[in-house]
Amino acid sequence: MLYPSKFGFDPLFPSSKDFKIVVKDDNSGLGVICYKSFKKGDVLARMAGEIVQDLRQHTLQIDKNNHLYDTYFSGYFLHSCDPNISLNMAEMTVTALNDIDAHTFLYMDYSQTEDILYNQFQCGCGSVKCRGWITGKMETSNSLLTMTDYKNNSMGC
Ligand SMILES: [Zn+2]
Repeated sequence: MLYPSKFGFDPLFPSSKDFKIVVKDDNSGLGVICYKSFKKGDVLARMAGEIVQDLRQHTLQIDKNNHLYDTYFSGYFLHSCDPNISLNMAEMTVTALNDIDAHTFLYMDYSQTEDILYNQFQCGCGSVKCRGWITGKMETSNSLLTMTDYKNNSMGC
């Protein structure tokens, strides 16, 4: 089990045989790799952790007021604009969006769960669907000022 015994036992908890947190590269930092293959629609694992009310690095939003703080597994999912997993934060489950080969990093779309990101960032996922600058689903970009924004801001001063 990746989770400490204080989390209790759930047969769906991620096993340390099947998943590991490893460094992907200098840019992405840590990610979760799976050592087992999964079929589209498979539930990979159930998540667990501390429920906190504040937004932190590595938290995943459960609902408007609560965030899952899991530093053993789900807090290290990498982002892709073309993800291979989907999170159900009500059920705390991770589902395969397509067939996943063994030795593959797991990628979620951070805007699936997060209203606001701890840090917005420039995405390098390389997907044709890449949105470029990644934000939470309820926030606007704090980086790419459009010409219209720029004019509006200038006139406001
Ligand atoms: Zn992207």
